[in-house]
Amino acid sequence: MGVAGVGQGARTAVRCEQCGSAAVRSVGQFLHRGRELWWDAECHCPSCDLNTCEHSGPGATPEDVRTALLAAHGPTRLRLSGPLGDPVAALRALREGSGGSLRAARELLDELREFGLSGTAVEMAWWRVRLGERGVAAEVEEGFGRAYRYVGPPELREAAVREFSAARGSAAGGSAASNGGTPGGLPVRTAGEFAGWAGVRTAAELAEPFTFVVDLGGVLRLAPRRSEHVACAGGESVSSAGEVGFRRAGGGAWEVWTVSNLSTGYCPDVTSWPAVAAALDRLGLPHPGGFTHAVVFRRCPGCGRCGIVREGHYVCVFCDGDLPERWNVDDPVPA
Ligand SMILES: [Zn+2]
Ligand SMILES: [Zn+2]
Repeated sequence: MGVAGVGQGARTAVRCEQCGSAAVRSVGQFLHRGRELWWDAECHCPSCDLNTCEHSGPGATPEDVRTALLAAHGPTRLRLSGPLGDPVAALRALREGSGGSLRAARELLDELREFGLSGTAVEMAWWRVRLGERGVAAEVEEGFGRAYRYVGPPELREAAVREFSAARGSAAGGSAASNGGTPGGLPVRTAGEFAGWAGVRTAAELAEPFTFVVDLGGVLRLAPRRSEHVACAGGESVSSAGEVGFRRAGGGAWEVWTVSNLSTGYCPDVTSWPAVAAALDRLGLPHPGGFTHAVVFRRCPGCGRCGIVREGHYVCVFCDGDLPERWNVDDPVPA
């Protein structure tokens, strides 16, 4: 990565293939000559001094490399600088860049217009260059994930919204303060609010993780386990969703012992971690630094069903069709 210009790297712990000691794998992406997206990966073992270079050059970045970069730096978003004057030019740039079908390019265009594209900092810088060459101005925004819409059965969302508004109407100021079965997750905005909530949880409750969402305002919302995420979110879109468990560390301070993005209602990408980290940081809660249980959701382009990718096996469990490397669960519906 010793290249001038845009580059990003991350390091992960691995086992040395020669001596079995703890080794370091360094991965990165960078813009080669200002416009080509290259990636590299190499391992170094301090014990036996083995250096192995896996790759350095152009090509599609493997998912594990992207995941390491996103975990270390968070996602970056690319937004249009202004109204899109020439959608055809943008479509052309997106199609050339993705090397894919017109349909895939259209999906990217919809995403660009609606949320902005999201990915690693180098990927977004690369798209910015490619779009710029076609006369489409876009700007890189750091530190934003995407908004996840509810993608589960519609009747669950309808029920959640109905209960939520009913509870709003009946209990004046009733912000689900007891959280005892009241619909809508309890918003926890400060360390004090968290301590108040956690302090009255029983040992049995704390033994299992809770349902959570991070709302679009960056606030953690908590609900009893097995609550529907869409109910926890009051039917709204979220920045992330999953399950989170808390315990008292030595000294009595609260900490996070488990956290996942397991929500089949929202199917958030693993890249939503920074939103979760920011919400926990805001409460002063020490956390593991990443999802302890990271779930890879993909929608099958063949049969349209949403499933979980297990052990890096990007094949649909329902129809054996190939699944894409990029998160695609909530591709925008055609206008
Ligand atoms: Zn070694
Ligand atoms: Zn399928």
